[in-house]
Amino acid sequence: MKQLVFATGNPNKVKEVRTLLGDRFAIKSLKDLGCHEDIPETSDTFEGNALLKARYVKTHYHQDCFSEDTGLEVESLQGEPGVYSARYAGPARDAHQNMDLVLQRLAAQTNRKAQFRTVIALIWEGKEHLFEGIVKGRIALRKSGSEGFGYDPIFIPEGYDKCFAEMTTAEKNAISHRGRAMKQLLAFLQKQS
Ligand code: IMP
Repeated sequence: MKQLVFATGNPNKVKEVRTLLGDRFAIKSLKDLGCHEDIPETSDTFEGNALLKARYVKTHYHQDCFSEDTGLEVESLQGEPGVYSARYAGPARDAHQNMDLVLQRLAAQTNRKAQFRTVIALIWEGKEHLFEGIVKGRIALRKSGSEGFGYDPIFIPEGYDKCFAEMTTAEKNAISHRGRAMKQLLAFLQKQS
């Protein structure tokens, strides 16, 4: 089975991606490579941050790899938290504090439309490729569910009346931003072999 490095330190994302690609590729995480660095995400775009992480792995570990950057974009907050999703409420990167801040800022808002956006950067045989996945939805009035991670307890995807944190990994993957971007990545990889 061909090995592909997923340049992330987030075990939740590794779990999701192994569910999606695990029967075709041996997915290695940064931890599996022995890399414990927090690769700086200094760009103000998802594309820029995804490329930073993929280039870092290619430069230091000389392996084909992909990385992704994701964020929650809330319409009435002018796209916030966006690229600042992980540290929206401060450097503690606490998911509950982040969600509380979104709920608080939306308290007086009737427009609760939001989307998750993922950009994947792949470095394959020396060339860079970008893939995007979006899921539209809305921000719930309060948190519910215990699956998933990050903002999952407050995000209700369009066409559903439950949030991501109330879905199984497989159920979330089938409609999620990351699932959609991964499907494009997979289609690309299948054409290569
Ligand atoms: P990252 O910089 O791509 O690792 O992700 C930024 C932040 O977005 C994470 O810390 C989470 O708070 C949030 N996030 C990313 N993906 C998801 C998801 O699938 N569900 C909920 N929150 C997510």
